Amino acid sequence: NEKNISNQEKFEKKMLSQPAVFIPVNRLPEIQEARLKLPVLAEEQVIMEAVRENPFIVICGETGSGKTTQVPQFLYEAGYASGSGIIGITEPRRVAAVSMSQRVAKEMNLSTRVVSYQIRYEGNVTGNTKIKFMTDGVLLKEIQKDFLLQRYSVIIIDEAHERSVYTDILIGLLSRIVPLRNKKGLPMKLLVMSATLRVEDFTENTKLFRTPPLVIKVEARQFPVSIHFNKRTPMDDYTGEVFQKTCKIHRMLPPGGILVFLTGQAEVNNLCRQLRQAFPLRRGNTTNGEDEDADTSEAMRTFKKTKQKKTVSLPRIDLDNYSALPVDEGDEDRDAGIGDEEYGGSDLEFGDDPASTEVKADPSIPLYVLPLYSLLDPEQQAKVFRPPPPGARLCVVATNVAETSLTIPGIKYVVDCGRVKKRFYDRVTGVSSFKISWTSQASANQRAGRAGRTEPGHCYRLYSSAVFGDFSLFSEAEITRRPVEDLVLQMKDLNIDKVVNFPFPTSPSTEALVAAEQLLVSLGALKEPLRTGSLKQMELARLSCPITPLGRAMASFPVAPRYAKMLALGQQQDCLPYVIAVVAAMTVREIFEDLDRTAASEDESVKLAQRRARLNQMRRLWAGQGASLLLGDLMVMLGAVGACEFAGCTPKFCEENGLRYKAMVEIRRLRGQLTNAVNSVCPEVGVFVDPKMAPPTEHQVVCLRQIVLAGLGDHLARRAQAEDILDQKWKMAYRTPLLDDPVFIHPHSALFKTLPEFLVYQEIMETTKMYMRGVSAVEAEWIPELLPQYCHFGSPLESPSPWFSLSTGTIKCHCSSTFFRIAWPLPAVEK
Ligand code: ADP
Ligand code: MG
Repeated sequence: NEKNISNQEKFEKKMLSQPAVFIPVNRLPEIQEARLKLPVLAEEQVIMEAVRENPFIVICGETGSGKTTQVPQFLYEAGYASGSGIIGITEPRRVAAVSMSQRVAKEMNLSTRVVSYQIRYEGNVTGNTKIKFMTDGVLLKEIQKDFLLQRYSVIIIDEAHERSVYTDILIGLLSRIVPLRNKKGLPMKLLVMSATLRVEDFTENTKLFRTPPLVIKVEARQFPVSIHFNKRTPMDDYTGEVFQKTCKIHRMLPPGGILVFLTGQAEVNNLCRQLRQAFPLRRGNTTNGEDEDADTSEAMRTFKKTKQKKTVSLPRIDLDNYSALPVDEGDEDRDAGIGDEEYGGSDLEFGDDPASTEVKADPSIPLYVLPLYSLLDPEQQAKVFRPPPPGARLCVVATNVAETSLTIPGIKYVVDCGRVKKRFYDRVTGVSSFKISWTSQASANQRAGRAGRTEPGHCYRLYSSAVFGDFSLFSEAEITRRPVEDLVLQMKDLNIDKVVNFPFPTSPSTEALVAAEQLLVSLGALKEPLRTGSLKQMELARLSCPITPLGRAMASFPVAPRYAKMLALGQQQDCLPYVIAVVAAMTVREIFEDLDRTAASEDESVKLAQRRARLNQMRRLWAGQGASLLLGDLMVMLGAVGACEFAGCTPKFCEENGLRYKAMVEIRRLRGQLTNAVNSVCPEVGVFVDPKMAPPTEHQVVCLRQIVLAGLGDHLARRAQAEDILDQKWKMAYRTPLLDDPVFIHPHSALFKTLPEFLVYQEIMETTKMYMRGVSAVEAEWIPELLPQYCHFGSPLESPSPWFSLSTGTIKCHCSSTFFRIAWPLPAVEK
């Protein structure tokens, strides 16, 4: 249709795409001075010219070169937010969206009403917002409401190298949205920003961009970093090795901050404790990074007093004797970091380290130790940006958060354990586990690079160069490693029926897509595929089921499909406020504080024991009796939410009862958000959520259990039967249709001792055993009614052994007059 557009229109279009305006920004002189030092400033003109000429741009640059904080400012000054559209920036991590919006507002001397953020639970976006930072999931939701994203003139996808699932999908969608917008005369730009050079998945993927996007490389002023490999690779006690090396650096080497990479929160806290013990706090000297609250000495006094009283005889309750169990930590950290920079320096062993022959440092210099991980509260996190106390050496012990999202100033030494903690999913069984594995070469190079930002630095790799040679070059995209039913549902809602054909930067496997469509069909979100025609046609039909009205309602809820199904069923028997509370609690990661962690100090260990005892007491109270008890862990969550709200959701209540305050606040917000979502989907329901709710009646609890069963139907488990129990490993165990191995109720669970015949679980986590988390008991006779899609109805004669037969992958049970078998993942046959 290009020919029908008049020259005048063409001219107007061109003008629109070339904002000639310059919007002045009134920065403080010290800010202006600091930003002039950032490498990205040198490229401003190149970047802005490229943006004017091209719809798709990729900007690569070393972490800390100023991409996130500066590029939105360039666009603002060039007028990209002065018309009707605003500038949107997506981040894979919430921490980054919040802290970067605040940083940019500060740099631009603008209020957070103008430079704002939106994450899942909260935001400060106003009608005046011109620059909006958000998580990638938030933008994906907005695309559902307005496919053309008409509010935006530019979208920046930041941290694209992290290859988060939503980021990947956004790039796929925007590769289509941007040309559509330009065709309609509503020009739009897409900028993809990445920490390093590995961008071929975006630029050389012809399915994605028909004309390859322009790549701009920001040359960073990176100082050489000498890499020192270990001679041997410690396999088990790498944390001990990390400790030794950190101490050695602090004792021997000249001033400069130390950044230590470990894999998770527990390791970080342990090392912080060890380092603080090795370089102890001097009284009156507040330099060891611990909280120096006014009550420290008070706590110390109480501790001493309680110690004299021999507090070992704290009230001990039976559920308390599992502290030897490994603690699951959340997957707060993504695998990240792609890059292949060459760093200066040769592969030297630590012994030949030239740095060790430099002037020996004064061993009495205090070490200012700070932890950094994403569940840490924001004030603690912010400490790493501030200079250490005068005369002290900064030592940040971090997880992957410090690899690319946050740049810590003043780091000269990096200690890299070479490992990373990742969530692994078994695509067939749905079992997930956190495993510590080797990181990638790209990631290791990113970590090393953190040492050379302000002067030449050193990176100590606690593994041999041979081991490094065996690392994979890059980390895998997340989309290839996780179930995709939520994404598939979102796409179907965008009328992308053939998800297999979607231009993913890296496509999930067909297997994963089929599993997702099957689950969605069984939840009623997609129409059943045709079972006629050739094999090929049937195969295709299985991968292109259209969405149902129920599916559309489910897609509009900001939770995973299983939980969305529960919300969709929730209005029965006035259960909706409870369903909303339970779903909110289930989707917020870890509402209970990790009380099994190793205490960072002695007084903390006393506090921990007290809180542990209290939490266990509360858990039993919240679990209730009768039907309430059978709702199991979900009742405990509901009880925790209810009790916390009655107490006014205060940090004090959470602290006393072992709840994570941050999680409880999130749950409250999410309850509000889910209530609005339900009301907008079915206004006639008119649900109203009072934060304070009365406990559900026994009758309502029974309904809740059924609603949970309907949502988690594919996560049904049955108590191991007599013939199994002969084998010791099946004692107290459960069977699930997809696994050959026994699974267990987690000792933290409210149903740990109840052992109901049938139950549904939220997920299976593999630690020392396969543990089901979030379990809730169900009655056998509900199964054929609520999950007919999983049942095969037939006469008892057909199956001589009415009980368990795993060889056929089925669960059989006897109920009233019918036998039924539940089989996965086969679809149901005729009743
Ligand atoms: P990139 O996105 O290229 O990794 P950033 O824009 O995040 O780089 O960072 C640019 C600079 O801004 C870095 O030197 C970083 O330390 C600094 N910076 C970022 N956030 C803050 C903050 N909250 N306080 C102080 N300095 C910050
Ligand atoms: Mg950045």
